[in-house]
Amino acid sequence: MLRVGINGYGTIGKRVADAVRAQPDMTVVGVAKQCPDYVAVGATAEGYQLYATDDDRRDRFREIGIEPAGTVEDLVVASDVIVDATPAGVGATNRSVYERHDTSAVFQGGEDATVADMSFTARVNYDEAIDVEYVRVVSCNTTGLARVVAPLEERYGVEKVRATLVRRGGDPGQTGRGPINDAIPDPVSIPSHHGPDLQTVLPEVAVETIGLKVPTTMMHVHALNVSLTDPPEDVDPIRELFAAEDRLLTIPEFAGIDGAGTLKDFALDAGRPRGDIWENCLWEASCTLEGADFYCLQAIHQESDVVPENVDALRALTSDRRGTESRRLTNEVLGIGASQFADHTGLAHDRQPAD
Ligand code: NAD
Repeated sequence: MLRVGINGYGTIGKRVADAVRAQPDMTVVGVAKQCPDYVAVGATAEGYQLYATDDDRRDRFREIGIEPAGTVEDLVVASDVIVDATPAGVGATNRSVYERHDTSAVFQGGEDATVADMSFTARVNYDEAIDVEYVRVVSCNTTGLARVVAPLEERYGVEKVRATLVRRGGDPGQTGRGPINDAIPDPVSIPSHHGPDLQTVLPEVAVETIGLKVPTTMMHVHALNVSLTDPPEDVDPIRELFAAEDRLLTIPEFAGIDGAGTLKDFALDAGRPRGDIWENCLWEASCTLEGADFYCLQAIHQESDVVPENVDALRALTSDRRGTESRRLTNEVLGIGASQFADHTGLAHDRQPAD
């Protein structure tokens, strides 16, 4: 059993903890948090050992009747590997603690790419992570871009990706973030950082990205234009290519899912934990081919699409399993790829992870 410590139990950390605990080959040693709040109470209710970020903070947990199992340093000592899901930039300062104890770690996309030996997306470069000690799972947006661009690049070649990212203003728990009633170019300069970030996992792909922020907490929406080197005659083969991808969920027209709100409703109806959607949600009707230019619209659930990627990154760092095997196991345990739409559409969903 791989003993995993989760440092940072917020939006990403709590989801990764539950996903790790569900795996047959992993166990959660404990979770580290800075503040004794409702999430800390939830962690102990879930049966997780809670660790305080440092000694000074232990008493704050004791004040609400939670006895911390130790500090982050103790968690690192007790773990084979750490998932660092602390706020953006904090992971870099934690790396020295992991190094001191010779412990591998998975960092998140809010960190600079230099925090780790490589940037990681299971679909693209799992097997390269087998020989390194530190990986960074790329951000939610970059993960979403990579899952679409990688199969197109492999099958048809990609001349250029142009993507406009309409980003959620904040997560549901981030009550202090805006905009409240606005649409803000973010950043106003072009390209946004997402294009260069995509190139940390797909270095050969030419890409330009534009970012905006809008007042929703639900999901990001991407408008993509991908110029193909050797395009098919029509769009049908591309739809079939996507239908065979394990972490792309094609939304058929009949479903009546017209936006992020109905997608979240669908996820809750389907009994998904926290209404999470680990797959890219690609509107079938938007998939269009004009000459060599492919267009599509997709929604990305920022809180959860990186969760299966973290699970796979843990296996890549610590086991002999190949990427396809790890992804198959992660998908099976979390219920990814079991599309409820498969029986109602002409597209056969034999969603084995592609090599
Ligand atoms: P969050 O603020 O929801 O949670 C952070 C957790 O880290 C909290 O439990 C906090 O107590 C703990 N923590 C540990 N050390 C801390 C310190 N020194 N200061 C403050 N808090 C500390 O963060 P999140 O949204 O889960 O993001 C974690 C990482 O994942 C970031 O790199 C972020 O960019 C990345 N990410 C976030 C999203 C998203 O939509 N939220 C999506 C993909 C990637």
